[in-house]
Amino acid sequence: MMNISDIYHKFDQIGCLTFATIDKNIPQTRIAHLFAQDEEGLYFRTMITKAFYKQLQDTKKVSICGMYPKTMVSHNDEGMPYFPPGYTIRATGDIKEISLEELKTKAQKNDMFALGVKDIEKYPAMTTFCLYRAWGEVYDFDFEMEHRPHKLLRTGFAFGGSAIPFSGVRITDDCIACGECQEGCSFKAIYQQEDRFVIDPEKCDVCGDCYTVCPTDAIEIVINE
Ligand code: SF4
Ligand code: SF4
Repeated sequence: MMNISDIYHKFDQIGCLTFATIDKNIPQTRIAHLFAQDEEGLYFRTMITKAFYKQLQDTKKVSICGMYPKTMVSHNDEGMPYFPPGYTIRATGDIKEISLEELKTKAQKNDMFALGVKDIEKYPAMTTFCLYRAWGEVYDFDFEMEHRPHKLLRTGFAFGGSAIPFSGVRITDDCIACGECQEGCSFKAIYQQEDRFVIDPEKCDVCGDCYTVCPTDAIEIVINE
């Protein structure tokens, strides 16, 4: 299981990230970055004068995502979009505001926080939030299968007591083992297990190709189970 430090370094390699909040039922996004991590969580800053701050205070929740490497969409020989192998990462969860005094205490042991303190002393309207309970996923992709025989490797993570909900597709007992889904799965995510077929959630893109070909409707859609 990835720990907070592993998760931070995946985000930090990207740098600028998309932070999503909700404002009166309307989604809002902006670009920001994480500046520190410790055993309590992941840390970011904003100013108390921004709408972002009000949304964070109102909901106490945030969702963060990014992609590495940053890339322009080019096209392969077939004219389809081409992405060099890389990963996306997202984390969603609960946040709390951290006082300057708490930040200064952390800064005594960790230089990442010292830089945060320096920034706040320069810009007094700035404040810090900690994402202390969250779940998420690294979506490692190699769509052209340049380095391995499957396109995806998804790794879920959670910290602070959060569980990892499952969303995706799953084959039920109605499977008659005809194999049509496996034939059509370009992600190589379906394998046979005795007299039925199974979807490997770490390799599945939830593209739906199997769902549309199954003759017995044996594939179910699961959302946040
Ligand atoms: S297409 Fe449907 S019935 Fe056929 S193997 Fe796949 S899940 Fe089973
Ligand atoms: S949803 Fe797409 S990637 Fe997942 S098993 Fe079905 S065909 Fe394969």
